[in-house]
Amino acid sequence: MATKSPKSLIDVDERERRLLAPYAMYSSDSAGRVFPEPDHPYRGPFQRDRDRILHSSAYRRLSGKMQVFTGEMGDYHRTRLTHTQEVATIARTVGRALMLNEDLIEALALMHDLGHPPYGHAGEDALNECIADEGGFSHNQFGLTIVQEIEVRYNEYSGLNLTREVLAGQTSRVDKQAKGKRPLLEVQLVDAADSTTYDAHDTDDAIKLGLVSLDQMSHLGLIREGLSYVKKRYAGLSKELLRKAIVHRLVNHQVTSLLDYTASQLKERAFESTAQVVNSDFTIGPDPALAEQKKELESFLYENVYRHPQLIQVRQSAQLRLKKMFRAYCKNPALIPEKYRPRFEKIGVRRVAVEYIAGMTDHFCEETHLMLFPND
Ligand code: MG
Repeated sequence: MATKSPKSLIDVDERERRLLAPYAMYSSDSAGRVFPEPDHPYRGPFQRDRDRILHSSAYRRLSGKMQVFTGEMGDYHRTRLTHTQEVATIARTVGRALMLNEDLIEALALMHDLGHPPYGHAGEDALNECIADEGGFSHNQFGLTIVQEIEVRYNEYSGLNLTREVLAGQTSRVDKQAKGKRPLLEVQLVDAADSTTYDAHDTDDAIKLGLVSLDQMSHLGLIREGLSYVKKRYAGLSKELLRKAIVHRLVNHQVTSLLDYTASQLKERAFESTAQVVNSDFTIGPDPALAEQKKELESFLYENVYRHPQLIQVRQSAQLRLKKMFRAYCKNPALIPEKYRPRFEKIGVRRVAVEYIAGMTDHFCEETHLMLFPND
């Protein structure tokens, strides 16, 4: 693969041979790109993928897309971009300890939410309904469309021309129940880091915004553990510091469990190659007791935060706006900017309308809606 260049003291393959476990994905084993490219002198293929994703317009737009809470609710809570960065950091921490390929992990993590439309899952549900009769819309699938067809980077072809491993990793997110080979450990790890991250930060944001209180959550296994851990170490914390200490513990406890349990499982399995991993039934995750506690916390968040009356209201009005915009674009396709129109022929006006809306940030969507319907 990458050849030694005077610019680097060690080449990518040599570095990976020294640092990665036999079950990790090695750059030298990559199946390459759809459009072959020469190797870079000092960046491996997954590093280049990471950089291509980082420099894409869809990635920058994540800063204007909500995770769970909208911009009007304040400036403390996570956006889709800061969520993505937290996922990447946690996944890399665990990946490094497990001697997995950090470059691949980072590329996958930065890509994982690239296809999210404005207004989070509410937006996704509305767009899905708009084209339910044509296969529907999913943010995971749209992430793939973005990097393969929509991003404009090269003269010769559309998309970012990412490695097959990154594309396959994202594909496995589209249908997580799909039968067949297991995803690479790097892919599985990013998925586990995603839930580790949102379980902690949604708790933090929801308490900070006053939608729920720590008291209300103290019966949940994970929060109970956090409270007892924190109270044993620190006395008389202010409300603010107590929340922060609990969230810190929530991250640390989950990450440690994920790492310890996965490391012990990997030791037992003693995989000698990625081929053995993908042909096994191995799944990265926290120990089963913690997995139960995570489920308990997630159903609490679902009932009390994601379905909070304040969010339901935001959700419903966003969905009405998106559907109205969709109908307007279908009725009058000339309202869709010219650069999106070449796709009319390939995927039809209705899906182009959905894709155009899905690419918008929350704020841009608001403004566009106002422009289309000034009297609303
Ligand atoms: Mg995510």
